[in-house]
Amino acid sequence: MTQIRIFILYTGGTIGMAPVDNNDPQSPLVPKNWAQLTHYMPSIKENGYFSQKGISFSYESFKPPLDSSQIKPEHWLKMAQIIEKNYHQYDGFVIIHGTDTMAYTASILSFLFQNLAKPIVLTGSQLPISHPRTDAVNNFSNSIHIAAAPVFELPVIPEVMICFNDRLLRGNRASKISTNDFEGFESPNCSPLGSLEENIFINTNIIRTKPDKEEKFYLTPNLNARVMDVALFPGLNSETLKRLLGDDKVDGLILRTFGAGNAPMDDDFLKVLKEATDSGTVILNITQCYHGGINMKKYKAGNKLLQSGVISGGDMTKEAALTKMMWVLANVDPEIRQEMLCKNLKGELSN
Ligand code: ASP
Repeated sequence: MTQIRIFILYTGGTIGMAPVDNNDPQSPLVPKNWAQLTHYMPSIKENGYFSQKGISFSYESFKPPLDSSQIKPEHWLKMAQIIEKNYHQYDGFVIIHGTDTMAYTASILSFLFQNLAKPIVLTGSQLPISHPRTDAVNNFSNSIHIAAAPVFELPVIPEVMICFNDRLLRGNRASKISTNDFEGFESPNCSPLGSLEENIFINTNIIRTKPDKEEKFYLTPNLNARVMDVALFPGLNSETLKRLLGDDKVDGLILRTFGAGNAPMDDDFLKVLKEATDSGTVILNITQCYHGGINMKKYKAGNKLLQSGVISGGDMTKEAALTKMMWVLANVDPEIRQEMLCKNLKGELSN
């Protein structure tokens, strides 16, 4: 029997939450500890379904577990360091995480790890695991199937992924799309990597290839959080933007523009952007649209941005764009930052 070792990192999220006041089911939800969570999933306990299949588990938990709206870059680095420390002892990793910022965490982890050869699967749920109609057991169990791939005769996927509602998504292509539907995530510009119905199907044509044996796994533990994410709207005041960019606190700006990458053409607005890019601020253009990406050559209103030194974020999600910016600013020489931001590094961009 194939023996597989899975490392589970519990960071928090609705999956492990319960009402803060035991006597009031309507009181706000807060994360509970890992032991309470496993109580509802006997299949992961010793002699449960998975151990009979040859899968063993180790666990580590954030103390305290967090609502993922509280996650900061330091937590991303902590997760990455925990995985790095355990990387060689385990065959696959499952990160239990709140849904609110799961797509950000999945995106940044994809940039932080180099030469990743093992599956890292993030999951969580819309309803707590203790709820009679919970989606947690399904999501958690599906994630273990992907992390322990060889046991189930599935391909090993060397990527950071999100497994949710019977679908497997590339982490840096996913966004949270619903606050309450079980289908909480989609990857609008990238087909799912797999589906988990009665049979599990993996789209082997699009999964990333494993690095060569000599390409060793490592972590780049640096991030630059001096970034900002601004969504344009009709009537945005250039002065406000100027104040934001002018105080030397922002090294990178994600500009969420209209349609294929268009923005107001008034001189004040363009001058603010030009002054910022001239002084070294990197401005990355992504679209506010759900599907598609940037083409700054299509309309004059987009071309003006190009002339102001703004660069194209292609069809990246807001989560991938922001975290890639943080990673590039901290790890890449200034001369090639723009090139790297436009280049597909970890599957986050369509070619
Ligand atoms: N607020 C929760 C969290 O992100 C939501 C969830 O997990 O679904 O931690």
